[in-house]
Amino acid sequence: MSPINTNFSSTVIREAANTFGTPLYLYDEAAIRHAFLAWHEAPSHHSVLTCYAVKANSNIAVLQLLSRLGAGFDIVSQGELERVLHAGGLPERIVFSGVGKSTAAIARALEVGIKCFNVESIRELEHINSVAAERGLSAKVSLRVNPDVDANTHPYISTGLKSNKFGISHEEAVSAYRYASSLAHLDVVGIDCHIGSQITELEPFLASLDRLLELIDQLAEDGIHLRHLDLGGGLGICYTDEQVPSAQSYIAAVSEKLGSRSLELVFEPGRSIVANAGILITEVILSKENTGKHFAIVDAAMNDLMRPALYQGHHHIDVVAGPRILAATEQSWDIVGPVCETGDFLGLNRQLSIAERDLLVIHSAGAYGFTMSSNYNSRPRCAEVLLRKDQLVEIRSREVITDLFAHEQLLAE
Ligand SMILES: *Cc1c(COP(=O)(O)O)cnc(C)c1O
Repeated sequence: MSPINTNFSSTVIREAANTFGTPLYLYDEAAIRHAFLAWHEAPSHHSVLTCYAVKANSNIAVLQLLSRLGAGFDIVSQGELERVLHAGGLPERIVFSGVGKSTAAIARALEVGIKCFNVESIRELEHINSVAAERGLSAKVSLRVNPDVDANTHPYISTGLKSNKFGISHEEAVSAYRYASSLAHLDVVGIDCHIGSQITELEPFLASLDRLLELIDQLAEDGIHLRHLDLGGGLGICYTDEQVPSAQSYIAAVSEKLGSRSLELVFEPGRSIVANAGILITEVILSKENTGKHFAIVDAAMNDLMRPALYQGHHHIDVVAGPRILAATEQSWDIVGPVCETGDFLGLNRQLSIAERDLLVIHSAGAYGFTMSSNYNSRPRCAEVLLRKDQLVEIRSREVITDLFAHEQLLAE
């Protein structure tokens, strides 16, 4: 069996595929709950708010489940805001991140009364201040400081270096805070950072924390007293054999460093809550041999799961054998989709025993799976199903062909 720990038996996987078709995302409610509660119930000397990063998996049923458990949410668009509100998420537990928030999104977030805007530039401070002023409101803000720490992760998901587009530099932070405090419609409440994703050690987080604490103390001397410290998301998961620190040990280490400072702690985990609670199930359409290389062509593709193509994401792959006529021997396979791109693969050089009509299980697909999917090659996006105890519940139906061009128009002449 796989090194990845999900609760799906072969029976459940076959049943899901038979009932809902393939490709299919399948999530485990118990695993999501367990991963969230690791954060939410972690012992700490400071109060902790866990703001689940919606972009990891934004299905409204997932958001609803997390909201009921007490989650806050980290959003990056008005679309995500509306999803959270629709799913019953509380505005006072929402933080709004992102380098380019639209005026409409800011206005809506002000109107519902979110916890905080995580602001990424001076221009954005001014923008939010003026949107708030027009409405006679005050916006709670935190500044996203770039701690200039190397997260030792893939360059595409590393966000805390000086060279990234994110945040305000450490050097400019104090003057940015002074400026923010001078703007009449801003209420300066916090500080935040987010140094990257799939980080598998605590050191980069703790190094960032040190830099933020320096600033917090310096600001306090200046008479600017912050109420919360938000360390962003980024805690990694086990895709293959990574040893990842637990949320509990992370929170304990952070709380210890905070010492007697009375600050609320905010975290924005996405991947670590949902990645290993989900799988992508796909059926082998046919097998093909090209000059000695074996390809299993499956019905899922890069449009369904983009991580391998986008940043060499590695997903463990298992076989759930189908109705085999001949025994299949184990050999090296490239698992590829039907899309017209060489980058369209789900796994390369996998030592497996595969036959046509087998089901393949792509593990650790609960985060940045469905949310990054597209209709490329005019492929309808697949269904999402949640295992609740022993029930399979459809939480998003498979798109149909007419969905593909429902928003397009033919020319009149
Ligand atoms: C993407 C993102 C997160 C979540 O990151 P994970 O690696 O999924 O935990 C949190 N905060 C911000 C600002 C992000 O951009």
